[in-house]
Amino acid sequence: MLKITTLLFSLLLSECSFSFVVLIDPGHGGTEHGATTKVTRKNSKGKYYTRTVYEKDFALILAKKVKKHLQAKHSTYLTRSFDRTVTLEKRAEMAETVKADIFISIHFNSSTEKKSHGFETYYLDNHDDVAIKKVEMIENENLKGKDKVVNQILIDLVIDKTVVSSKKLAKMVHKNISKKISKKFQMTDRGVKPGLFYVLALSKRPGILIEAGFISNPNEVKKLSSPNYLDNYAKGIAIGISKFIESRPKRGLPLF
Ligand SMILES: [Zn+2]
Repeated sequence: MLKITTLLFSLLLSECSFSFVVLIDPGHGGTEHGATTKVTRKNSKGKYYTRTVYEKDFALILAKKVKKHLQAKHSTYLTRSFDRTVTLEKRAEMAETVKADIFISIHFNSSTEKKSHGFETYYLDNHDDVAIKKVEMIENENLKGKDKVVNQILIDLVIDKTVVSSKKLAKMVHKNISKKISKKFQMTDRGVKPGLFYVLALSKRPGILIEAGFISNPNEVKKLSSPNYLDNYAKGIAIGISKFIESRPKRGLPLF
C-alpha cells in the first residue's frame, strides 16, 4: 500500500513538473536583425576579414541552449526555432496557444556609446529611467505607430497581474546568470530593472526580458561569440527558472 502511495506521489510530482510550461522567445529574427555590428577576425591563413553579426542569431543560439537545459524537467517551447520573422503579437499568441506559465525573451544590448557593457534582466513595470527608455525604444521597435494609449492601459493591467511573480523570476534568474558569468568572463552586472517591453505586456503572464551583453561593444562581442560564454549564460538562466518553479506552491497535490 505504501509503495502504491509513493508511486502515485512521484507520478504526481513529475506530472506537476511537466505541467509547468516555459516559453522561450529568441528576440527578432528574419528581416528584423535586432542590433548589428561589424567584427574583424583573422582566418586560418592569418588574413583579416570583416563580417556583420546580428543580435537575432545570438538570441537564437542562446534560447536553444536554455531549452536544451530545461526540456528534461519542464515543458519548454521556442517562439521561433530558426531564422524567421515573428511579430510581437504572434509571439504573444504562442504564449496563449502553449498555455505558457512564464515567458522568457532573450536579447542582446546595443548602444551608440561603444564602451557600454554588461548584462541585465528586465521585468514589466513602470519607471522614469531615461537610460531604460532607450533600451525599450530599440526592443519595442516593431510596434511603432500603434496606439500608445491602448498599449499603456494593457500594460498597466498586465503589470497589476504579474509584477510580483515577474520581479521574483527576474531576481532568481539574474542571480544565477551572475554566478555563472560575472567573474569567469569579467562581465559587469547591471542588475535587475523594470522596463516597459511590449512583448512582455502582450504575453500577459509573468515574464522577463534578458539583455545578455552589448553587441555594440567590440570587446564584449568577442565574449558573446564564444560558445563557452553562451553555455554558461544558458545554464544560469535554466537554473534560475528551475529554482523559480520549485519555489512556487505545488498546485494539484493532495493536501496532507
Ligand atoms: Zn533585441
